[in-house]
Formats: sequence, structure tokens, C-alpha cells
Amino acid sequence: MLPESLGGLAAIAGLVGLCVGSFLNVVIHRLPQMMEQEWQAQCAELRSEPPPDSKPLSLARPSSRCPHCGHRITALENIPLFSYLLLLGGKCAGCGQRISLRYPIVELLTGLLSAYAAWHFGPTPQLAGALLLIWALIALSAIDFDTQLLPDSITLPLLWLGLAFNLPATFAELPAAVIGAMAGYLALWSVFWLFKLATGKEGMGYGDFKLLAALGAWLGWTMLPAIILLSSVVGAFVGITLIIAARHGRNVPIPFGPYLAAAGVIVLFWGETITRSYLGLIA
Ligand SMILES: [Zn+2]
Repeated sequence: MLPESLGGLAAIAGLVGLCVGSFLNVVIHRLPQMMEQEWQAQCAELRSEPPPDSKPLSLARPSSRCPHCGHRITALENIPLFSYLLLLGGKCAGCGQRISLRYPIVELLTGLLSAYAAWHFGPTPQLAGALLLIWALIALSAIDFDTQLLPDSITLPLLWLGLAFNLPATFAELPAAVIGAMAGYLALWSVFWLFKLATGKEGMGYGDFKLLAALGAWLGWTMLPAIILLSSVVGAFVGITLIIAARHGRNVPIPFGPYLAAAGVIVLFWGETITRSYLGLIA
């Protein structure tokens, strides 16, 4: 494909990414609340109490509001990035409270990674897969960062979607993808139990196993060592920095999902090169 048309494709993907990022902000904010509502309803049912009478949330309803004053966010105020930067100057139109920088950051990150994916993969089935994977990983990272949860409602469909994309070997041969899903789960499951037997503490959650299983399903088992290595190196570096900066107690759990997700994106783009270079080092 000509560089000019590839640039056009990247620009379109970037714009689509900005809008998807705006939707991801809703998912990140609301999915944990929806899960909690569901748990409370289930608890009430177990105790044979009437269900809590709060209005059921969904991703579509109610429409977005300012968390401080309840000001309803209009369509014009909801344009990704543009509204935050130019129209609102980072403040709510209703009460003037600062809007969290998180919203434009998630939009910008989604836009940039989507544009890069289009540039990297061109108009191929890989591009469609890469976009879906990247979007899911961004939502999972932010939810894990906020709540230390990796919702099954994202990790499990992501795993199946990865296997489906690899039916025609989009990123890996199907056997490598199936083995990747199993090995990804088992690898962290074993680390979890070894750590628990050795220290009596739980170092990570079951969501992390499912996330690595999903990455194995997308990228194949051959990419798992690189993903684990990259996420541990980055995780250890950030963890040690936080402990030294004393902003984090040694026993405060640090979510591992964002590191796995970041490593997954790096390996999605450069996995072949990374694997080839460390296999070259061994040989
Ligand atoms: Zn407000």
C-alpha cells in the first residue's frame, strides 16, 4: 500500500479511536458500578431480602453527568479531546469543577494506538483484531488501576475472540493459540500458589490469569515468555519506584493487569522481533 493511503488509513483509525476512547471512559467508569449493583442484588436474593431499589445502570443509561453537580453532559461537550481542551478548558460547564485528566488521556491513548495499529498492519484482518484487542486492554488496565478488578465480562469474551481470530491463523496458528490460552492461565496460577505457599499472601488475582490466558489466545504460546518478562520488568521497576517514593506501603497490592496489558500491546506490534532477538542471544 502507498504511504499516502496508509497515512489516510491511520488518520481515520485515529479519529475512530478517539471516539472509542470516549466510550471506553464510560465502560471504565460504569462497569465496576454495574458489577457491584449485581453483587448486591445477588446478596439480597441469598438473604431472601427484597432487591435494592436503585435504578439498574447500563452502559447506555443514564446519560453521562458531572460527578460533582449532576450537570448533564451535552453532545457538544462530549466530543472527544476537543470538548475537554477547547470548549471546556478542562472544567465542567455546570459547576466549573476540574474534569479529571483521565478522560482526555484515555481518549488520546486510544486514538494514538489505533492510528499506529493502522499504520503498522495496513488494511488487513490483523488490523481489525489489533484494534479490538487494544481497546479491550485499555479498558481492562484502567478498571484494574481503579478497582483492582479485571471483569470476567471483558477477559473471557476477549479470550474466545482471540481464538476466533486465530481460526484462520490471523496472529498465530490455532494450536499455538489454544496452548497459549492454557499455558497463560497455568503460568500465573502456578506463580500465585507458589507465592501463597511461600509467603501466605495473595500476590495477584484470578483476573490476571484470565488476562494472560486471553493474551496467549491472541498471540500464541510462543509470545508468553516475552509478555511475562516485559510485564515483570516494568512492574518491578514501577513497584520499586513507588515503594522508594514511600507513596505505597510494601503490602498495598499493586495491580498487575496494566503491566500485562502494556506488555501485550508491545508484543502485538514487535513480538516477532523481540522473540527473534532473545532466541538469537541464547543461540
Ligand atoms: Zn459539574
